[in-house]
Amino acid sequence: MITERIVIIGANSAGVSAASAARKMDLKAEITLLSEEEYWPYSRCGLPYVLSDEIPRFRELTLFSSSYYRMMKQDLRIDTIAKSIDLKNRNVQLEKREGERESIEYNALILCTCASPFIPWIMGIYERGVFTLRSIGDGRNIPEWIKKALFLQISLTHNTKYHSLKNQ
Ligand SMILES: Cc1cc2nc3c(=O)[nH]c(=O)nc-3n(C[C@H](O)[C@H](O)[C@H](O)COP(=O)(O)OP(=O)(O)OC[C@H]3O[C@@H](n4cnc5c(N)ncnc54)[C@H](O)[C@@H]3O)c2cc1C
Repeated sequence: MITERIVIIGANSAGVSAASAARKMDLKAEITLLSEEEYWPYSRCGLPYVLSDEIPRFRELTLFSSSYYRMMKQDLRIDTIAKSIDLKNRNVQLEKREGERESIEYNALILCTCASPFIPWIMGIYERGVFTLRSIGDGRNIPEWIKKALFLQISLTHNTKYHSLKNQ
């Protein structure tokens, strides 16, 4: 019997779920998960909560520890970008952050790369002090004073809502 080689490009919510589903269906398949990010798969939805101090550290957004991927026999490669796909010969060309290149073959390829949001053109959008929040890297770049302002705003909103409900 041929061993299935499943390659999943993008290792966050969709990629990790696809890898788990693939493992449930095929206990022997070789599963490779590729992520260009330098962090272990994490919940993006939790990013604002770290900034507002409701979750203490970015690392608490991590979906699973390394032992999970070992247990599931999934080869998770972070810091690794899929540069191109050769559909005819069924292989993916990878490049690690340090520049090392490799080509891996697949029988099944799953794309879980999501989409890249665009930044709308607004006057001053590229000025210093304007930030976007999509990744842990973005969150780490947001300075402390903004985090404090966010925390204060969320606390004020929470209190206002609480008091207006109480006084109804
Ligand atoms: C701040 C914030 C708050 C959010 N809050 C909520 C919420 O409250 N509720 C909700 O439902 N949703 C929320 N979302 C949206 C939710 O996080 C996304 O819908 C979800 O992350 C999509 O998961 P995904 O796995 O499809 O894609 P992604 O999480 O985008 O993962 C795709 C991955 O593929 C990688 N990738 C792309 N191209 C390549 C390549 N060539 N090689 C290797 N890797 C590649 C990307 O770097 C990325 O890591 C929020 C998003 C953000 C940014």
